[in-house]
Amino acid sequence: MEDKKFNRLEYIDELLKRNAQNPCHRCGHNSFSLIDGYSYFPIQEKLDGTVLGGPNIPAILVVCSNCGALISHAVGAFKPFENKEEKEGQNG
Ligand SMILES: [Zn+2]
Repeated sequence: MEDKKFNRLEYIDELLKRNAQNPCHRCGHNSFSLIDGYSYFPIQEKLDGTVLGGPNIPAILVVCSNCGALISHAVGAFKPFENKEEKEGQNG
């Protein structure tokens, strides 16, 4: 994954563009905060043991201001910057 610094406003923009604005799935409130930084979900092929530093899914986290429910959004779904680079790098 690229060395992209977290930009709060860009991610809020991306969430709004995708209509990710439904009320909290747990309590129904409509007030959220975007956690200020990336999170990671480790991926491994085996159920037992923990592989540190292995493959992972980078994500941003939105937290319900009322009940604290965490909602994760995989950063790969946004990719506004990577797609731009890929298109520039393709020559047919
Ligand atoms: Zn909630």
